[in-house]
Order: sequence, then structure tokens, then C-alpha cells
Amino acid sequence: MFEYAQRIKTLPPYLFAQIDQKKREKLQQGVDLIDLGVGDPDIPTPKAIVETMQRAVEKPEHHRYPSYEGMLSFRQAVADWYKRRFGVELDPNKEVITLIGSKEGIAHFPLAFVNSGDVVLCPDPAYPVYKIGTLFAGGEPYILPLKEENNFLPDFKSVPKDVLKRAKIIWVNYPNNPTSATADESFYKELIEWARENNIIVASDLAYSEIYFGDKKPMSILQIEGAKEVAIEFHSLSKSYNMTGWRLGMAVGNKDLIAGLGKVKTNVDSGQFQAIQEAGTVALNLPEEELQKIREIYRERRTAMIKALEEVGLEVYKSDATFYLWIKVPKGYTSAEFVSLLLDKCGIVCTPGNGFGEYGEGYFRISLTVPTNRLLEAVERIRSLRL
Ligand SMILES: *Cc1c(COP(=O)(O)O)cnc(C)c1O
Repeated sequence: MFEYAQRIKTLPPYLFAQIDQKKREKLQQGVDLIDLGVGDPDIPTPKAIVETMQRAVEKPEHHRYPSYEGMLSFRQAVADWYKRRFGVELDPNKEVITLIGSKEGIAHFPLAFVNSGDVVLCPDPAYPVYKIGTLFAGGEPYILPLKEENNFLPDFKSVPKDVLKRAKIIWVNYPNNPTSATADESFYKELIEWARENNIIVASDLAYSEIYFGDKKPMSILQIEGAKEVAIEFHSLSKSYNMTGWRLGMAVGNKDLIAGLGKVKTNVDSGQFQAIQEAGTVALNLPEEELQKIREIYRERRTAMIKALEEVGLEVYKSDATFYLWIKVPKGYTSAEFVSLLLDKCGIVCTPGNGFGEYGEGYFRISLTVPTNRLLEAVERIRSLRL
């Protein structure tokens, strides 16, 4: 009866909502599903965080509206964590803002800086929110393909001059979802130099900085000299601390970019529940061993899974971060066809690469967010397909 607005009507269905529907059908049929689809940690939130929350909930001062920008104590904990982890200095008053999960910030950020007709440079394949946030703000996404031959880094220097003139923001996300690729200092250096020359905002999504397996820890773009002039970085407690359900994240970096995002947020939300921010402060101060324990779980799963997948003849992209594996579909299948086959014949849910954009075609993604025995059971089911 009531017609959807154009901006909703033209949206593709949100990737995971679609997969959820298929999953429900299979579950109703009684299939023993192995769900490698959504990137949602199965490991519980560390105890110290949960216990802080239990106590914090009882405090009446937390029962009132929080401040829009987030509690100073949480923003200070973010600044301290950035200093310890990356050696980056942040002013908690001007260079940090609390988010209700980083998805919220990523979706709202373009509203602060994008006018109708402005271009936003969006990687593909990618987390869908960069493109959708752009569209909601009336901007035009311009696709930067992430290709295996470039280690899934965007070739931002290839953007044509006329597009560049209209470009306002570039999104980057390393360690990357869905490809698991990482970026090094030289990539970020060139990116910052190029962004400064062309007056483009660099929006970095660092959700997976703590899920790494090599000797070199993933870096923050703010470690690059001059980055603070053009960059904002989105981060989240979701993936580092198994807190996806808590909805707590932060944006840090250039103070004008933070202020712009803050203006939008002041008008659409009223901040995150303070008890959650108090628990988040404890999370950011957890001893490194807690994070190391979580990494070891993923490392074990990852090693076992890569070995098993290669044994059945699948080609896995090798990186040393994130809890995803980015895998080539066997010859003769599209991403959608192969993912459907896995669901129908094996009861395995994974995500088709093209769900992350057209350049994801030819791949599928699995999440290492189920126990190793279930991952290996999944491989046995794939083996029985005799690919
Ligand atoms: C999970 C994820 C996020 C969002 O996490 P929140 O739970 O909203 O903080 C952001 N970016 C990427 C690439 C992700 O995979």
C-alpha cells in the first residue's frame, strides 16, 4: 500500500538477510547445518568484561541518557589503547568518538561529508556498508576492484581525473573482509600522499586489527605521518573481544572528520548505554594474553582448515589475518552455484564472493567461527562431492 522510497527500493537485499532466509528453510527441514556464513565469533566474551557489565547495569548513573560523543573514560581508554597498540597519540576529547558498533559509524559518516553527486571510492569485493552508506547520502559509489594479482589492494592511482575531481572519500579495510588480505606501510604511505594531493578523505576500517597470525601486527593508518590531516579510522570491539552483540565501536583520527560524524550522530542517536561503555573500557585494558588465547583458537582452526581444503583440491588465498578464508570456486561453477551446491548437498552455509560485489565472483568466503571439529566435518562433506 505504501511505496518504499527510491533509496530503499533500489537496494539489493542485504547479503546476510538473504542467506538467513535460506538457512531457516534448511533448518526447518532438519538439516544438520554447518554455518560458515556470517563473521560472528562463537567464542564467549571474556569473563572480566561480562562481570563488569553485570555490576555496571546496577548503577543508576548509567540509566540516564549517555553523552552523544560517549563517556570520556571510554574515549580515554580508546586513546590509551591506540597509544599502546599503535604508538598513535589521540586527544580523547576531539579525536575519538564512541559508536554504537562501527557499522553505525560507517553508515552515517557519508551523511556528514557527501553531497548529492559526490563520488565515494568503494572497494569491491567489500563489506557492503561502504557502498550503501554512500547511496543513502546521495553519493555515487565508484568501484575500485580488489584483484588477487594486486594482493587485493585497490589501484587508487587508476581513478580517472574527472572522477577524482568529484571524489570525496575513499574506503579501505585491512586486514580485509572478505579477502583476508593485509596492507603494509608502503601502501598506506602512498595512499595518504595521494589523498592529500587530491583532497580526499581516507576512511579506514580496522575492525580486524587484532585477528592476526604472523609476526607483523596489522597497523593503523594513523601511524603514517600526515595521516591525521585526511584520515578517519573506524574500529570496533566486536571482532577483537567477541562482542558483536554488545554494539560498541569507535571512530578516531582527524578532529574535523570526527566532529562531522558527531553532528550527524547527535541528530539520529543518543549514544551507547554507559554500562556497555564501562565494560568496553575493561575490554580495551585486558591483558594481551587474553587476546593471544583468542588468536590461538583461530590459528588452530585456520591451519587445520587450509590443509584440509587444499587436500580436497580447493585453492585458498594465503594471508595471515582475519578469521576468514577466501577460496576460489572450482572450475565450471559460479560463486552462487557452488555455494548453493554446498548448502544443498553438504548442509554447509558459506558466503558467495559476488555477494560482496562483482569482483568477488569466482570466490567464496568461509568464517572460522565454528569449532575445529565442525570445520573438519564440513571438509569431509565437501570431500564426498569428489570435486
Ligand atoms: C564486522 C565488521 C564491521 C562492523 O562491526 P560492528 O559490529 O558494527 O562494530 C565493520 N567492518 C567490517 C569489515 C566488518 O567485517
